[in-house]
Amino acid sequence: MQIKYIQDADLKGKKVLVRFDFNVPLTKTEPRAITDTSRIDQAIPTIRLMLEKGASKIIMISHLGRPDGQVNPKYSLEPVAEYLASKLGTDVILSESAIENGVKNLLHLPETKLVLLENIRFLPGEEKNDMELAEKLAQYADVYVNDAFGAAHRKHASTHAINAFFKNRAYAGLLMKKEVDSLAALLDKPAKPFIAIIGGAKVSDKIKTIERMLVMVDTLLIGGAMAYPFLKAKGATIGKSLCSDEDVALAKHLLAADKGGKIQLPKDHVVSDKFDGEPSPCAGTSIPEDKMGLDIGPMTIKSYGDHIATAKTIFWNGPMGLFENKNFAKGTMSIAHTIAANTACFSVVGGGDSVAAVQQSGEAEKFSHVSTGGGASLEFIERGELPGVQALKYGV
Ligand code: AMP
Repeated sequence: MQIKYIQDADLKGKKVLVRFDFNVPLTKTEPRAITDTSRIDQAIPTIRLMLEKGASKIIMISHLGRPDGQVNPKYSLEPVAEYLASKLGTDVILSESAIENGVKNLLHLPETKLVLLENIRFLPGEEKNDMELAEKLAQYADVYVNDAFGAAHRKHASTHAINAFFKNRAYAGLLMKKEVDSLAALLDKPAKPFIAIIGGAKVSDKIKTIERMLVMVDTLLIGGAMAYPFLKAKGATIGKSLCSDEDVALAKHLLAADKGGKIQLPKDHVVSDKFDGEPSPCAGTSIPEDKMGLDIGPMTIKSYGDHIATAKTIFWNGPMGLFENKNFAKGTMSIAHTIAANTACFSVVGGGDSVAAVQQSGEAEKFSHVSTGGGASLEFIERGELPGVQALKYGV
């Protein structure tokens, strides 16, 4: 069965229930402010299209953070409602709860157009994929749209069970389409050379992606704390660098599986004695006992850059070092600039931290696609499908 897209939906006079991923980062102190609005900004075209198509009501669902099924004002969608209202230049009403009676009354008011339901994860039924909760939500609307790519790897009430109540009336939003098309292009006959750059902190989080990537790519560049278990597995010393025994065992397994010699590891590092210490160069693969690796070194930047410059397809997930500290950001920023400079390649970056790094580099516009979904983009690559997308296609 083919997925239905919102562009083809007749929304005139219809009430539309739409799942977005407004799970944006917020400042830790009150008043809480959104520190990166990209996820909301990327949802705006879908909202505008629904308005243009004459939707009578737009009822928006999202989660924020991990309130674990309990009301917690810390995770209120209030800052999101305020930002949406200012961006769209119209009122956005935030409901007290996603399933209070007042929502139906609100929808009867002619002046109400845009309603944002309060954090759906305040309700325990959401993460349990609860049919009763899905049914209650479904009663608000005639049509369902899923534009929450970042939550499409979850089987939750508002992304999965809800499809049971919108047979032939469920559509993918514009962002969902863009995300799925871009990631599918990586899996379906990507132009060669295809290079994956995998960084970040833990091998165990990304082992399935790395396994899948080893089959697809010509070269796999590994950086960040991800590299140390691999270096240790090959007999190098890694000092006090982040590394678990479990990750060394996984790295050994991946190195043994890499029959084509596709995995590339750092040849040098930037080290320090602590996370917020002074940076110093470290030539060679081994790191002294009293130091920790916090960024890739200049030889590695050059060698990884040479691979990137000749690539026709690039997938990047995970920073090359502790880039939040400017002393250890050079490797990650250089990778962002080199990918941006290769205008002939199809480049996709996914994952919260690497996306933040690309934004920080000022090069986001030059990437073919900057994914809003961290876990979702990795899971799509591993499996070629996501539960939220499958439910849109086939129902539940
Ligand atoms: P992940 O969520 O697995 O992509 O990990 C991203 C995090 O890993 C970021 O917060 C980075 O600062 C951190 N990171 C990357 N490289 C290192 C490193 N060499 N040492 C410590 N943390 C690192």
